[in-house]
Amino acid sequence: MAHVVSDECVSCGACAAVCPVEAISEGPTKYVVDPDTCIDCGACEEPCPTGAIAAE
Ligand code: SF4
Ligand code: SF4
Repeated sequence: MAHVVSDECVSCGACAAVCPVEAISEGPTKYVVDPDTCIDCGACEEPCPTGAIAAE
């Protein structure tokens, strides 16, 4: 299990700024979560303006 980013992502970077383990980075078309690093803490969900990041 890990959090994943949907196509609703507008690449604002808010999620990456709050991730405690730096699992989120900017990809070619949207932000992406490294599933091996994500600890499923959920901290990235609230700051996202489009609800694009959630548990898989
Ligand atoms: S759930 Fe937590 S660890 Fe996983 S990407 Fe979001 S903020 Fe980072
Ligand atoms: S907070 Fe939401 S819209 Fe912003 S980069 Fe993260 S997933 Fe994309």
